[in-house]
Amino acid sequence: MAMRHLAIAAIGWLSAAALPTSAQTPPIIDTHMHVDGRLARETDWARAARLALERMDQVGIAFGLVLPPPQPPGFADFWECDEYARPLAPYRARLGLICGGGSINRLIYRTEEDGPLDPAITARLDELVGVYAGLGAVAIGELTAQHFSFEPRHPYLGRSPDHPAFLRLADLAARHRLPLVLHMEAVRGGFATPQGLRRLSNLNPERIGDNLAAFERLLAHNREATIVWAHYGWDNTGQRDAGLMAELFARHPNLMADLKIQPGSPAARAIVDPGGGLRADFVAAVEAMAERLMIGSDAFHALRDTPASRQTERLTGATRLLLERLSPAAARQIAYDNAVRIYRLRERGLVP
Ligand SMILES: [Zn+2]
Repeated sequence: MAMRHLAIAAIGWLSAAALPTSAQTPPIIDTHMHVDGRLARETDWARAARLALERMDQVGIAFGLVLPPPQPPGFADFWECDEYARPLAPYRARLGLICGGGSINRLIYRTEEDGPLDPAITARLDELVGVYAGLGAVAIGELTAQHFSFEPRHPYLGRSPDHPAFLRLADLAARHRLPLVLHMEAVRGGFATPQGLRRLSNLNPERIGDNLAAFERLLAHNREATIVWAHYGWDNTGQRDAGLMAELFARHPNLMADLKIQPGSPAARAIVDPGGGLRADFVAAVEAMAERLMIGSDAFHALRDTPASRQTERLTGATRLLLERLSPAAARQIAYDNAVRIYRLRERGLVP
C-alpha cells in the first residue's frame, strides 16, 4: 500500500494512463469539477488546485474542467472563475475553466419571469460571455433552470429554460463556440414537489411546472449552440431516465450530457440495482448513446471540510466502475474523446 502511494506521488502530473489504478480503462477527463479555494479568513486557490490534482491522480483523471456551481442573486457565498483564473493558470496542463455559474446565473435570476429581457441585462450577458471567452473558458456554466434545495442554506432556483435570458445565452454560445452547461431536474407535465424534498428544505416550492417542452424550445432555438445537460444518472424527480434521454438525443443533435455516477444517493436509484451495482439497462443505454456523453463527477475539491468534499472518491471511483462495463470504444469516447471534441480542448492546446 505504502509503495503504491509512493508510486502515485512520484509520477505526479504525468498522464493518468500510466497510473496503476487505470490499467483496464482509458484516462478520464472530468468535465464537471468544483474547486473551492476559499477559507473563512483567506483564500488559497493554488492549494485547492493541488488538492484536486492529488485526488485526480488517485482515480486516474488526466484533465479536469473547473466550474462555479449555479448561484442565486445575493448569495453570500458568491464564487466565480475570474477570482481563480489567475491562481489556477500554472495548472493549465491539468485544469481548464468553465465560467458563469456565479455571475451569469445570478443575472438570469435577476430578470422578470415573463416578458422581454431588459436591454441592460442583455448587454451585461453579452459582455460577460465575451470576458470569459477572453479568459480562455471552454464553456459557460454551471447554469441552472431547475435546482432543488437540499438544506436551508442551499438555494432553490427555477426558471423556464426558454426564458429570453437562456435564449440569448444560446445565441452567445453559438457565436463564441462555447457550450452551455445546464443543471436542470427533469419535470414532465408538472407535479407536486416530493415530500422528501419539502422536508429537506422549505425553499423548494409546493408545485413545479413542466420544463421539458421549454427545454426542447431552447435546444431548437439555435442549433449552433451546444447544450450540455449536466448530471445524467443523478435524478431527483425520477423522470430523467434512459428513454427520455434517447428521445431528446434523437430530436436534438446539439444536446450532450455529462454523467454523474453516485451510487448510494437517492438520486441514483434509477441506475443502481438492489445489490448496489450499476443496472445493466443503464449501462446498455450509456453504451448506445456513447457519442453524446461525457464524465462529470460533480466532485467538490474544497479546502473547507464539507460533506460534498468528502464524497470525491465515491463520485470518481464509481465512474471507473461504469467505464469498465462498457465496450473499450464507448469507454474511450465517454471518458476522453467526446470532451476533447465538444469543448475543443485539443485545438485550444489544453490536452495533447
Ligand atoms: Zn449541478
